[in-house]
Amino acid sequence: MSIEKFSLEKVLSVHRWTDNLFSFTMTRPAHFKFTAGQFARIGIKVNDELVVRAYSVVSSPFDETLEFFSIVVPDGAFTSNLQHLQVNDEIYLEKIPYGYLTLARYQLPLPKDLWLLGTGTGLAPFLSMLQDFETWSKYKNIHLIYSVRTQAELAYAEKIQEIIETFGEGHHGFKFIPIITRDVQAPLHDRLPVLIANGELEKVADLKFDPETSHIMLCGNPQMVEDTKEALKARGLTMNRRGEGNIAVENYW
Ligand SMILES: Cc1cc2nc3c(=O)[nH]c(=O)nc-3n(C[C@H](O)[C@H](O)[C@H](O)COP(=O)(O)OP(=O)(O)OC[C@H]3O[C@@H](n4cnc5c(N)ncnc54)[C@H](O)[C@@H]3O)c2cc1C
Repeated sequence: MSIEKFSLEKVLSVHRWTDNLFSFTMTRPAHFKFTAGQFARIGIKVNDELVVRAYSVVSSPFDETLEFFSIVVPDGAFTSNLQHLQVNDEIYLEKIPYGYLTLARYQLPLPKDLWLLGTGTGLAPFLSMLQDFETWSKYKNIHLIYSVRTQAELAYAEKIQEIIETFGEGHHGFKFIPIITRDVQAPLHDRLPVLIANGELEKVADLKFDPETSHIMLCGNPQMVEDTKEALKARGLTMNRRGEGNIAVENYW
């Protein structure tokens, strides 16, 4: 991997949510332009080797810094090292962003209902989209569905409220719907495909999935993405290809 493709940035803050989840911010070089929903490729040196992974950007395209939300995989080549990140550490950032999980990919149907469905760190690209006023002006209804295993893993819950107050002021169609799969007391605790098939998600959202009005984005765990996609297809929704269709996905592994 050619090191010239990267700029060297500095870690500005680290926030640990749980033992296996943390967020960090870092300097953003002026050349690094991205669209909400895209991902960066970031790298650290491990035994003098550059190890690089894809990371969705959490922060908005208008922020001066870059924020990321990370899992810790105990034996993971990248995150078992990244978890020890500290302020002022250096981190490599590939100069160009990547990815097509962006709202610009939708041409038909026209924007009306936006469903953002993420598991775990798959929340990240949606936080960026929600910090872009254009998202709020485009859609009548915006539903953020965030599935985690435990209440402690419901990272960014407060930040989501702040985002709604700042960006969603005067917008009456937003709903935040958490799903906590290991907590039977939680109002919603089944897996997403189940909640779609049995109609419970639409009931809580007070909105129907509709091939004529729905833009649906899925991000995170590939099994969730696959099963949810199938549940949606069974409801007549289609994959978004060349601008047309309802469902857009991003798998994290
Ligand atoms: C487009 C894209 C965007 C991504 N954005 C993010 C992001 O914003 N935040 C993030 O934490 N990861 C993200 N990932 C995953 C990330 O690139 C790495 O896989 C992750 O950092 C783990 O790296 P690793 O070397 O420690 O383990 P790897 O060897 O890369 O992965 C080992 C195993 O860990 C599990 N795993 C990997 N990533 C995750 C995850 N995010 N959540 C739960 N389990 C996981 C899987 O079972 C995987 O097989 C993204 C991946 C892609 C393709």
